[in-house]
Amino acid sequence: MNRLKRMKALLIDLNGTIHIEDTSTPNAIEAVTLLKQAEVPFLFVSNTSKESRQGILNRLYRVGFDKKTIVLDQIFTSLTAAKNYVEQNDVKLFPLVSDSSLTEIPTELVHKQKDFTQKSVLVGLAPDSFTFENMNYSFRLLTNHGAELIAMNKGRYHKTSSGLSLGPGPFVEALEFASGTKATVIGKPSLSFFNQASKILGVQLANCVMVGDDARDDVCGALEAGVGFGVLVRSGKFLHGDESFLKDFDDDSYCVADNFAEFVNLYLSQIE
Ligand SMILES: [Mg+2]
Repeated sequence: MNRLKRMKALLIDLNGTIHIEDTSTPNAIEAVTLLKQAEVPFLFVSNTSKESRQGILNRLYRVGFDKKTIVLDQIFTSLTAAKNYVEQNDVKLFPLVSDSSLTEIPTELVHKQKDFTQKSVLVGLAPDSFTFENMNYSFRLLTNHGAELIAMNKGRYHKTSSGLSLGPGPFVEALEFASGTKATVIGKPSLSFFNQASKILGVQLANCVMVGDDARDDVCGALEAGVGFGVLVRSGKFLHGDESFLKDFDDDSYCVADNFAEFVNLYLSQIE
């Protein structure tokens, strides 16, 4: 754990790590307060592609997180990163995303009409949009019109209160498979996502810890991007055996904790 002692800031996943839908994980509320009291900088980093930052903040308050401890600027999502990306590249897009996520994307860049004028297809978690008609239109845009495939993330599945559910990943891969196009991935585990998060925190990635319940996108992805220390929590989408994804990394660069609060206690005891 020598390396953990040197870490200056935390990147923290949301769903599955500090809460599952409207319930916090064990002692997570107290753990976030302890981090704040210890003046450890932290940023919540989420691959959500359907909830706005304000929606997430409202949910965290509903779950019981303290209004003084968590503010809007401490939340960074793949939706925000997608907004930055489409604005910078000024691409008119066909949305395969939920209506709620469209509130963050500039309206002039969104074009729902199926007239083949879009320059990209943006895919997020959008159960109601993944119809054959929409998927097929997207496939034709990519194949016949050279559109770019942009994925908010390629999450395989996530945890909901009724069990594991499909993420956007399988739909992105279906479009990649059919069109022979490779998606630009905006959220975790892309390097640009972690770089933007590090810039917001003002702490180099090599001095940041990433804590999450997704062994591949949160932990392996972060370590590959240059994050200093990875933590896999056994909550949320964690499945027995997920630890094995980490076996190729240096033992001193990661740990597995039962939950977020257990890790926070370990971290605070190491840095004190
Ligand atoms: Mg998660």
